Amino acid sequence: MADIIQLLPDHVANQIAAGEVVQRPASAVKELMENALDAGADVVRVMIKDAGKTLIQVIDNGSGMSDTDARMSFERHATSKIRKTEDLFQIVTKGFRGEALASIAAVAQVELRTRLKGESLGTRLLIEGSKVQSQETEACAEGTNFMVKNLFFNVPARRYFLKSDAIEFRHIIDEFQRVALTHPDTEFQLVHNGSEVFSLPRTTLRQRIVHVFGARYNEKLVPVDEYTDIVSVSGFVGKPDTSRKTRGDQFFFINNRFIRNTYLHHAVASAFEGLVPTGHHPLYLLYFTIDPEQIDVNIHPTKTEVKFQDERAVYAILHAAVKRALGRHNIAPTLDFEQEMAIQVSPVRHGTEVRPPEVQVNKDFNPFGLPAEERQDAVKSWFEQRENGRSGGWQEMYQIQQELDRRPVLDPAGQVRPSWPEIHEDSSFMQFDRRYILVPSSAGLVLMDQQRAHERVLYEQYRKQVERGEGCSQQLLFPESVVLSPPEYAMLREHQQELAALGFDLHFDFASGVEITGIPPEVPASDCAKLIQSMATALAEDTARAGDELRERMAWSLACGSSIKYGQLLTIPEMKELAIRLSACNEPWFASGGRPVLITLPFGYIDRQFS
Ligand code: ADP
Ligand code: MG
Repeated sequence: MADIIQLLPDHVANQIAAGEVVQRPASAVKELMENALDAGADVVRVMIKDAGKTLIQVIDNGSGMSDTDARMSFERHATSKIRKTEDLFQIVTKGFRGEALASIAAVAQVELRTRLKGESLGTRLLIEGSKVQSQETEACAEGTNFMVKNLFFNVPARRYFLKSDAIEFRHIIDEFQRVALTHPDTEFQLVHNGSEVFSLPRTTLRQRIVHVFGARYNEKLVPVDEYTDIVSVSGFVGKPDTSRKTRGDQFFFINNRFIRNTYLHHAVASAFEGLVPTGHHPLYLLYFTIDPEQIDVNIHPTKTEVKFQDERAVYAILHAAVKRALGRHNIAPTLDFEQEMAIQVSPVRHGTEVRPPEVQVNKDFNPFGLPAEERQDAVKSWFEQRENGRSGGWQEMYQIQQELDRRPVLDPAGQVRPSWPEIHEDSSFMQFDRRYILVPSSAGLVLMDQQRAHERVLYEQYRKQVERGEGCSQQLLFPESVVLSPPEYAMLREHQQELAALGFDLHFDFASGVEITGIPPEVPASDCAKLIQSMATALAEDTARAGDELRERMAWSLACGSSIKYGQLLTIPEMKELAIRLSACNEPWFASGGRPVLITLPFGYIDRQFS
């Protein structure tokens, strides 16, 4: 029988290898960015069209390549980074397999322009499906400019299995961030369909993290620094309140290479035990420096898995480092995770009102026994003392308040509820401290918290609107636009329908952001951009929440954002309307987080004060 074994033609072998190296546009972005850094670039620009399906362009100001190297770089196993086997164990650069460019060129149309530093002319090379189409001398810029067009144009099955642009672009952002987070001293830019997504100047690591994740992280980073003979760990962990139910903000880098490692994740998570609720993951960006001989990076084609020779020692060091960092910064347990609404209502004051009085007040004091002028002063100072000390029955007030505060906790199912105070239509309403609405009722004197009452009313209204999918919207005379981060934009777009039901008319355009043309009637036009921004942030942070929980959160954050605030003067008809709408609610007693909306001072209690 004749011999039948043949070597695969190069372009076929390359296509097979491409399957390993280039799984999606994001993989090509990563390889090209890493090559740019290996070439010593300190400015790297990434231009993307259609989530990388049409174009991935990476421009660097690195060393550039000679004519011959430019052609050679696309050969399989072509690398300038390894000469002998021993080199494999001493790798400090990103690439080393010499496969990336060969793989990319096998499945795309590649246009490369490159000019060596110091040369007057560069070269332009066209390759399509591993075949060189042309190479010419060209007066291009110093450094390298890669254009990868129509990825998988010759592998329809792979092209078909690419996900939506939103998802593929999310992957690109992930890879871009990982590279950016390891090179704060390099300037990076990411542009998608003509609009700038990231523009990161050269800076410190801490500032780079803040630029990538947003200014709100500035105060939230706790530095970690641990140097040992085996391994050094540095970087940051987030304060416990940055933890999320979703994974995603956890980064390990070994010798500046992003890796995943569930074993080491456990070391960090267990250092946070008791500080974050179960199932929450702390934010961290931890950078290991280790002798390259102590690790094997070559066990996975995309190189995000790394094996340590002494994994248990690294675990112990990491765990101790994080504990020490948290201890050093006095991070105490934070229990208040319920309060984590997208929009914080203004600080609630009643918590501070109940501290014991510092001023003793003479309860038996009778100002009416004094001469007129003394009486006036005395009354004034009595009120002042009362004001300062919160005396005169504060303890009893406190007890009532506490009892009401506790009710949602003791009775989450709500079987035992105090009966709803009957408020007569012609009752006289009074606003007190621009904060509470005082109104007589069948049960006693009702004190209603104006902001919380309105939050509850709006929340129930928004919930109904979302369920029924019918919201009314008020058109804006001057549309507002909001610039969002890519994940925020993507999440907002995904929930466009619910937002429409809440009364928002939004127009999405990646280039110019989100344009708001209509808003719910209760929302002041001046607040709408801020409100959309904070809802988008909440949605992007909360990708794990789904369905009902998510709609609930959207309704709460809109309700909190558009409610009447403390300090707002209310007219009697307004107060009356609020009370009527509140009494029509399913759960009139509680605002978000189970906080009480109203308390009743029973007749008995008031009578006792006069006895
Ligand atoms: P590897 O990075 O593993 O060596 P690649 O296929 O990614 O393999 O790249 C092959 C070679 O092409 C590199 O070793 C390097 O010499 C050269 N090269 C690739 N990209 C650039 C670039 N942006 N600037 C200069 N040289 C580059
Ligand atoms: Mg490479």
